[in-house]
Amino acid sequence: MPDPVIVAGAGPTGLMLATELGLAGVPVVLLERRATVPTWSQTFGFHLSSQQMFRQRGLDKFDGAGRFPSFDWGFPGLTNAEPEKFPIVFPQRRVEKLLADRVAELGVLTRRGHEVVGVEADAEGVTVTVNGPDGEYSVRGSYLVGCDGGRSVVRKAVGIGFPGTEATLSGRTGDVEILNEEYRNGIGSPFFPTGLAATVQNPDDPSLSRATVVEFTAERPPDEVPITVEEFVAAFERVSGITLKVANSPWLTRFGDATRLAERYREGRVFLAGDSAHIHFASAGQGLNTGIQDAVNLGWKLASVLRGWAGDELLDTYQQERLPIGREVTVYPQVQMSLLHPADKAGPLREFIAALTQFEEVRRYLIDRATGTGIRYPMVYDGDPAPEHPLLGLRVPDLPLVTEDGPTSLAVLLQSGHGLLVLTGDGTAAEVAAPWRDRLTLVRATSIEGFEDGALLVRPDGYVAYAGSGADDVLPAALLTWFGQPAAGRAV
Ligand SMILES: Cc1cc2nc3c(=O)[nH]c(=O)nc-3n(C[C@H](O)[C@H](O)[C@H](O)COP(=O)(O)OP(=O)(O)OC[C@H]3O[C@@H](n4cnc5c(N)ncnc54)[C@H](O)[C@@H]3O)c2cc1C
Repeated sequence: MPDPVIVAGAGPTGLMLATELGLAGVPVVLLERRATVPTWSQTFGFHLSSQQMFRQRGLDKFDGAGRFPSFDWGFPGLTNAEPEKFPIVFPQRRVEKLLADRVAELGVLTRRGHEVVGVEADAEGVTVTVNGPDGEYSVRGSYLVGCDGGRSVVRKAVGIGFPGTEATLSGRTGDVEILNEEYRNGIGSPFFPTGLAATVQNPDDPSLSRATVVEFTAERPPDEVPITVEEFVAAFERVSGITLKVANSPWLTRFGDATRLAERYREGRVFLAGDSAHIHFASAGQGLNTGIQDAVNLGWKLASVLRGWAGDELLDTYQQERLPIGREVTVYPQVQMSLLHPADKAGPLREFIAALTQFEEVRRYLIDRATGTGIRYPMVYDGDPAPEHPLLGLRVPDLPLVTEDGPTSLAVLLQSGHGLLVLTGDGTAAEVAAPWRDRLTLVRATSIEGFEDGALLVRPDGYVAYAGSGADDVLPAALLTWFGQPAAGRAV
């Protein structure tokens, strides 16, 4: 049994990673500084790419969650585009509860009240110093993943830089009981010359509203000064002219638009994922979603290496694939804000963008960026890009198919967390894949709706590694790249 993977932080990223490692049977130590689970939800929006991801793990228990009305935050012209792709209203608390329940089902213990305070990494593993309820202790792991948020202790301990820009605006948000009934669930347009202001009913507690105000100025009290209802109400009034009458507020916080991206996502046996690797303004609602996708990209790779299937180079693909996405995700909200402020300059820019969004390809691009569904990882084997296919490198759509066991779908077949090879052609590809049978689900389908080729290879994270006839020499190269050396004595 290898030393466990130590995961620092049980926010959405750390919990997702722990489920992936638990599913793969890898021992995990999950350390969380907070002694109790937060009662509030920082995020409400859950993007399409994460919905798809959850479906591929059987976690899609969204219980009739509604959808956010548009992608129009900053991008005029997208208001009514493709409503079925809008994010669903699925608060962070529910995301974390689903994941925490799955983590527990998989036998992973979450050590709450255990804060990572030191990290010593060497060639064989990582020793983490933890401050727990009974004092300080150390724990040894094979790898450490810092999922410990924007102020990551792990990132600082291993000396990974976090360059970027300071906040240029100041936001305040929270759950408030609003006595002026007309403002409980919306105040009209959120856009004002000096900032943004909005209210929406809190899906977790309809007696409360989530009220948010953003001022286009970096001025705000220092972090050590706790935010008060009076400070919040005054800022809301400065921006919108509306005086909210607030009876009670169980949670209020400040936030900004500081934008930073880790210089690298890996330092030897230590990795970063989620907000520890990238922070940005919350307008696009992509932070939690990106963290979840980081975790799913890394989890199966760590498991493959720890099971002795794959070599260390597989772990390098984590940064190769996810750092460019981190960069894209940090850019998007900056563009959104440039389209809103300053209003006199942003007006013409918005008009211009509105005209561009009339073009189908522009809309497609923007919606793919907003939802995270446009991510296409390069699939390069032996130095050559794999032959083009519309699905190659993308998250596989949940296509229905019929196997010898009856009708099913690709997402359902991925729920075990294994890679997947679906064959519709003759037996050649099955013979090619035979040496990897211990780490792949091999399925023969009479047909896959919307897929005409003979073989479809999907990585455990749901991304298409090969799509083609199955009779070429690209399939074995793809298997070697993503699933490692075949089992001993069965070399190809
Ligand atoms: C106002 C606001 C609204 C937002 N809305 C959205 C939205 O709609 N959609 C969206 O996708 N994103 C949104 N985001 C961003 C989202 O909240 C974050 O990106 C997300 O929480 C990141 O998850 P994480 O697990 O990486 O980090 P975090 O949620 O920060 O979790 C890190 C965890 O690590 C723990 N920790 C910290 N230090 C240590 C340590 N030393 N040892 C052990 N544990 C430690 C923390 O207690 C915490 O539980 C919003 C952010 C803000 C501020």
